[in-house]
Amino acid sequence: MAKIYGVIIIGSGPAGYTAAIYAARANLSVLMLQGYQIGGQLMQTSEVENYPGFEEGLLGPEMMEKFELQARRFGTEMIPEDVISVDFNKHPFTVTTDSGEYRARAIIISTGASAKWLGLPSEKRLQGRGVSACATCDGFFFKKKDVVVIGGGDTAMEEANFLTRYANHVTLIHRRDAFRASKIMQDRVRNNPKISIMLDTEVIEMLGDEAVTGVRLSDVKSGEETILPVQGVFLAIGHKPNTDLFKGIINMDAAGYITPVEHTMTNIPGVFAAGDVTDHRYRQAVTAAGDGCKAAIDLERWLESQGIDVGVENWS
Ligand code: NAP
Repeated sequence: MAKIYGVIIIGSGPAGYTAAIYAARANLSVLMLQGYQIGGQLMQTSEVENYPGFEEGLLGPEMMEKFELQARRFGTEMIPEDVISVDFNKHPFTVTTDSGEYRARAIIISTGASAKWLGLPSEKRLQGRGVSACATCDGFFFKKKDVVVIGGGDTAMEEANFLTRYANHVTLIHRRDAFRASKIMQDRVRNNPKISIMLDTEVIEMLGDEAVTGVRLSDVKSGEETILPVQGVFLAIGHKPNTDLFKGIINMDAAGYITPVEHTMTNIPGVFAAGDVTDHRYRQAVTAAGDGCKAAIDLERWLESQGIDVGVENWS
C-alpha cells in the first residue's frame, strides 16, 4: 500500500527546510522532494552575515547543511529529485518525480527562484566557458583575469566586490545612470580600487569561440558600440520564480510569483506556498525561513479543520 504523507514539501531552500522542521515536530509525516540541486540559492552564496544567531556569519552551503540536518533530526524523509508533474485535482494530492508517484494530504511549494539571463545567443553558447550567473560558484576560476559584472542591484554589488578577491579587475556594467542597490553596497563598490563602473551601457554580445574573450557594449544614450576585452562575464540581473510546473493550476502574478489567497494557502485548499516563490520583495534567507514556518502552521490548522488527525501517520 502506498504511503500517504501528511505533507510533501517541494524544494529545499530555507523555506522548505523550516516548513519541514515545523511540520515534523508537529508529528506529521513529511516528505521533502529536494530537487536535483539541493539547497537552493544559498548554495551559491558565500558568507551569510545577516542571519540572526550566527554572530560570526557562515557560508551559504554550510548553513543549508545545518538546515537539512535539523529537518532530518525530526524525521523528514528526503528525496533529491525534481518534481516532474503534480495532480492537485483530487485529494490526497499526487506529486511525480523520476522515481515514482508520492501522495500527501497537503503540499508546500517552496521551489524558490533562479537567476535571470540576458537571452543573447552568445551568452548561451559561452555559458560555463566564461559566462556565469554565480560569482561565488565560479569566481575561483578567474584568478588574475579581467571580468565584467552586469546589473545594478545589491547582487551585482556583492558579486563585483566578491570577484575582486580573484580577478585582476572588475568592470560593473549597468543599463541605467543610477543603481538600485542599497547605499552601503554601492559605497563598497565605489571604494574598491579594483572595480570600475560603466553606466548607461548594455552588453549586446559576448565574444569568443571556445571561451570568452570580450564583450560588445552599446552606449544607451549615443548608440556607440565598443569592445571591452575580458575573460569572464557574470550576470546579476535578478531572478525568476521557479513556478513553470504550476502554471494554470496555482494563482500567480504576471512575473510568475505565486499569490497565496489566505495567509500562505494558495487558491487550492491544502496547497501552500512559502519563500522566494511568493516573494519578489525581500528574498532573504530569514524571510523565507519565516514563511516556511507560517506555511507549516497554516497547513496543520487546515488539516485539523478538515478533521484529519495530524498526530497519526496516514496510510492507505
Ligand atoms: P534586483 O534588485 O532586481 O536588481 C536587478 C538589476 O539588474 C537591476 O539593476 C536591473 O536594472 C538589472 N537588470 C534586470 N534585467 C536586466 C537586463 N535584461 N539587462 C540589464 N540589466 C538588467 O535584483 P538583485 O540585485 O538580485 O536583488 C534582489 C533582492 O535581493 C533585492 O531586494 C536585494 O536588496 C536583495 N539582496 C540583498 C543583498 C544583501 O543585502 N546582502 C544581496 C543581494 C541581494 P534596473 O535597475 O534598470 O531595473
